[in-house]
Amino acid sequence: MTIYLDNNATTALAPEVREAILPHLFGEFANPSSPHGPGMAARRAVGEARAQIAALIGAKPADLVMTGGATEATHTAILGALRTLEETEHTRSHIVTTAVEHPATLALFEDLRQQGWRVTILPVDADGVPSLAALGAVVTERTALVSMMWANNETGVLMPVAGASAIAHAHGALFHTDAVQAAGRVPVDCGIADYLTLSAHKMHGPKGIGALYVRKGAPFRPLIHGHQERRRRGGTENVPGIVGFGAAASLADLWMDENGLTVFLRDRLESGVLARWPGARVNGAGAARLPNTTNIRFSDAKGRPVDAEELLIRLDRAGIAVSMGAACSSGGNEPSHVLTAMGLTGAEAAASLRFSLSRYTTAAEVDAVLSELPALHARLVTA
Ligand code: PLP
Repeated sequence: MTIYLDNNATTALAPEVREAILPHLFGEFANPSSPHGPGMAARRAVGEARAQIAALIGAKPADLVMTGGATEATHTAILGALRTLEETEHTRSHIVTTAVEHPATLALFEDLRQQGWRVTILPVDADGVPSLAALGAVVTERTALVSMMWANNETGVLMPVAGASAIAHAHGALFHTDAVQAAGRVPVDCGIADYLTLSAHKMHGPKGIGALYVRKGAPFRPLIHGHQERRRRGGTENVPGIVGFGAAASLADLWMDENGLTVFLRDRLESGVLARWPGARVNGAGAARLPNTTNIRFSDAKGRPVDAEELLIRLDRAGIAVSMGAACSSGGNEPSHVLTAMGLTGAEAAASLRFSLSRYTTAAEVDAVLSELPALHARLVTA
């Protein structure tokens, strides 16, 4: 059995989620827009799931637009907001995000830059945290929107989203947050945001389903047209996906209630690695972080970065799945944009591995990982 410590890339479907989905794949397959009994049952199921997802972030069900994942939710929020503002407040031509966002946001900002928007990418400090003072210095009455993620997917570092939102709002700008990695792991309250992005597959739900919270009254334009989702996102609803997302959200809510933030075993793993690998350092150690994530930089006795890709491959051979930064960037040769933004050199970034735990990770699994390390250390450092 693989020891899976790559839960920031994606998570296993919870058994309860699977059970919730199955009837909607087979017997109860009707289209929620159909006027007959089975259609109405599908519509009810979608409504119940929407309420479960809304409860996780303190939203009203009507404030959620279901999407085909977080990438689409983020594009919908930002493009919709900016297109509306272009018509109503053309003086706002400036948008702000941070250097450590997910490519879902950064690539969109790059495209917006090419379309003529003035873009500020906020730097981060050595722990991966953007400075609110720096944000305050760049946001003006010409700023249309600020987008800052709630928690970073590579390091788990929590961002100062409440402060960032206050700065944006003080200047009449809109605030979007990508809460994909935070939701279901730490409490997330939509109250600070105009737009908030969620994804089911990071909380033991299915892939290809996400949600966008839109504050009542916030500017909005659909990205995909059609009558579904109250005309805010066209296309026949992904009923099994939405029902699975609802089940995953209510499980996550219950789980956070019962377990607080302590049962991820991250600290046991982190301190165990540091004890067994002299010179290893935690990236973002000085910041508040998600309780399930640790990003560790490995070096040899002289402090020279080791090749984390080799470490990853050797761990994989031992049945342990971890990652080098984001899943989407692995395979490429580019060093992590998150770690380099924190001031790591390319070699230091390439010496870093991300371990991300889930609520199903066990102490025995953590200990099994730790028991592999001395041999790996001997091989990679002294070889
Ligand atoms: N935002 C963050 C922080 C993520 O980690 C991910 C997933 O990789 C996404 C957005 C994209 O989510 P999705 O796969 O649902 O489009």
